[in-house]
Amino acid sequence: MFDLIIRNANLPDGRRGIDIGIAGEKIAAVEAGLPGEAREVIDATNRLISPSFVDPHFHMDATLSLGLPRMNVSGTLLEGIALWGELRPLLTREALVERALAYCDLAVGQGLLHIRTHVDTSDPRLVTVEAMLEVKERVAPYIDLQLVAFPQDGYYRASEGVESLERALDMGVDIVGGIPHFERTMQEGAMSVEALCRIAADRGLPVDMHCDETDDPMSRHIETLAAETVRFGLKGRVAGSHLTSMHSMDNYYVSKLIPLMAEAEINVIPNPLINIMLQGRHDTYPKRRGMTRVRELMAAGLNVSFGHDCVMDPWYSMGSGDMLEVGHMAIHVAQMSGLEDKKKIFDALTVNSARALGLENYGLDVGCHADLVILQAEDVLEALRMKPTRLAVLRRGKVIARTVPKITELQIEGRPERIDAGYNPTARR
Ligand SMILES: [Zn+2]
Repeated sequence: MFDLIIRNANLPDGRRGIDIGIAGEKIAAVEAGLPGEAREVIDATNRLISPSFVDPHFHMDATLSLGLPRMNVSGTLLEGIALWGELRPLLTREALVERALAYCDLAVGQGLLHIRTHVDTSDPRLVTVEAMLEVKERVAPYIDLQLVAFPQDGYYRASEGVESLERALDMGVDIVGGIPHFERTMQEGAMSVEALCRIAADRGLPVDMHCDETDDPMSRHIETLAAETVRFGLKGRVAGSHLTSMHSMDNYYVSKLIPLMAEAEINVIPNPLINIMLQGRHDTYPKRRGMTRVRELMAAGLNVSFGHDCVMDPWYSMGSGDMLEVGHMAIHVAQMSGLEDKKKIFDALTVNSARALGLENYGLDVGCHADLVILQAEDVLEALRMKPTRLAVLRRGKVIARTVPKITELQIEGRPERIDAGYNPTARR
């Protein structure tokens, strides 16, 4: 006896027509033709069912603030940081919480149930930290929210950067952040990496730094981050977010760097939407893509996952909380268009990011949390191509969001009357 059975589901690994039995909050069976009954049965009609999406890199304190107090005119990362600096003194806890909760509603509808957000600690008021701690607690029934103490204006460069970051951790923030490429000098950047890794080791916390988010090929803080990770015994617990300078680095240097990153088991978190939007802005033509070397890092065995980073904030006026939009862009920017490539991209939105976040009981195996999403698509390839409707989203075995399927009614003689949004002439549906 199950509480819920989802029948006729296709799984990301290619298995088709599978039944998933759910008991309480957990997956209790995964097999074809599952015997037994349940209080509720959902027929997935050979749609794709995936573990809920995971966003390993976001800015929940800035989201939905687009236009406050003005727009980013140049579109650059640096103007975005300056603009955020103008908005920061005006922030209130109430408005921050309200915007974050609104974003979480959007995320849930897209099947996004696990988010790591960087929280700016530059303003000594720490109103951002207070607000995000409140949000974390309020969304806990439906979203796992991890908080990173993020010294946006520099750990050393901001006047009270060091003290504010420590206070944020004391208040209960989960992860140590950093931004070494934004410190005043290369040397201070390296010193910040060392100091922040030491704090993480002392407190037993993971590390996730904005690292080398620049087109400058000489921005090599990832080398220091890998070395300090090994020195402080933090292997597997450290993430390098962005790493865009690797796009522009000398190939010989990268051939030494990637094995060092692999040794340190660095979690690599590119942000394709933001990287393609913000990097290369100082170039004329040819313009660099500015995303890190995804294919090569994956081939070296590094855990690569993709973040959304921003939605309607000083850095990015677009975004929808849809991790498939992120994957869609990753396929293009990394030119990973092959069949196996696309499967790896889908993994980077789900299982890889779950690993980067250290999520437990995540996945489609028996015993995992029943945190699931049913998509209006047949398989992962169609999901990445169409960014389809999330028909149902389950959290711990309960449906928490439903969306009606997208069906177009055609009024053309001699053509089908109804087109399913996932329409694929070669599909077996
Ligand atoms: Zn970021």
